[in-house]
Amino acid sequence: MHQPDATSRDLIAENEALRARMTYVLEQAQRNHDIMCRHQAFDLEIVGASSFPELVGTIFRRLPIISELDSVTLSLVDTDADIYTVMHKLGVDFELLPDLLFCEHAVELGFGATDGAPPRPRLGAYERVLHGAHFPQPPAGLASVALVPLLRNKRLIGSLNLGSFDPQRFTATHGTEFIEHMASIIAICLENVISNEMLKYIGLTDPLTGIYNRRYIDRRLVEEIARARRQGYRISFMFIDVDHFKAVNDTVGHQGGDDVLREVASRIKMELRLSDALARFGGEEFVVLLIDADLDAAAMVADRIRAGIADRPIDLAGGQYLNVSVSIGVSVLDDYARDHAIEGVAQQLVAQADAALYQAKEAGRNRVVTAG
Ligand code: GH3
Ligand code: MG
Ligand code: MG
Repeated sequence: MHQPDATSRDLIAENEALRARMTYVLEQAQRNHDIMCRHQAFDLEIVGASSFPELVGTIFRRLPIISELDSVTLSLVDTDADIYTVMHKLGVDFELLPDLLFCEHAVELGFGATDGAPPRPRLGAYERVLHGAHFPQPPAGLASVALVPLLRNKRLIGSLNLGSFDPQRFTATHGTEFIEHMASIIAICLENVISNEMLKYIGLTDPLTGIYNRRYIDRRLVEEIARARRQGYRISFMFIDVDHFKAVNDTVGHQGGDDVLREVASRIKMELRLSDALARFGGEEFVVLLIDADLDAAAMVADRIRAGIADRPIDLAGGQYLNVSVSIGVSVLDDYARDHAIEGVAQQLVAQADAALYQAKEAGRNRVVTAG
């Protein structure tokens, strides 16, 4: 048999080495391609998130898997707790998002002063003293971390905090281009959903009193009527109108009148359950939607509201006290309404309460009248 000479033996060895190297490079390329695909899918998913909880939920659920991380938290700068308050009012349950952290000022994120240059990611070994604020409940074995600034128009809006059990995963010598790119997409998505939620909130609330507005109650009524039909409970509706409010304005001025409206809203709220909905319907008119309450129960709540306002003068700025009363009309969703279109039923519920309110006014004000 032909024996290869020394030169061809070298060539064969070189060839094998090259093949092995090629296989390795191809494997690496395939791996990088897989990572890229997973990240592209992640980017699409977060860009498509339509609400704040959906966005942060997706980040916490998916990022640890696609990036093979052992901990992911998110710190948001929330001056005056605006974001927290609005999200809370929109029904976000923060207990379900323990890895979402808020801080009052950007300096608390720990990126330090940068003399105008954008802050850089901070990578290195996990240390409790240094990183406790970003990982308040670190998993046992957390070894290295990357704190990545979230920037929008050069403004620091938060920090994306990545943690690994592998001490070599994040070290000061690592490149940060990839995580910075990821953070920039997350920052855009965060800013978008936060402003959308703020707009939603502004569109559904009354700026004077902070309670819901008419648009909200119109929507909620339709939802609640449908639910009440499915689940077979009663809902009631109240129309509340401040008595002689023109005279209130005349006595204490428009500003004073506004203070009275705020106080009336807060006294009504005190008598309600969390499941009930209170809205300012217009000028000095409020409405309440009571869930799982029949006419008798609603009339009792209405009378508590009436008494809560009439029995205690309103303390206005400047040591002025003012006696104010309200008249209330109450209606209930009837069984016979079952077969009718929801929008019509909602209108009827409001109209019946309005008619009852008119009777309360006619009968002398500061009283509750039930419809039917
Ligand atoms: P009634 O007992 O019959 O309800 O008498 P009223 O004076 O309350 O009757 P009316 O509904 O005609 O008057 C409502 C007044 O509320 C007129 C309007 O100037 C005032 N008003 C409406 N919106 C506001 C507001 O946002 N702030 C203040 N201060 N006043 C308002
Ligand atoms: Mg009125
Ligand atoms: Mg009035």
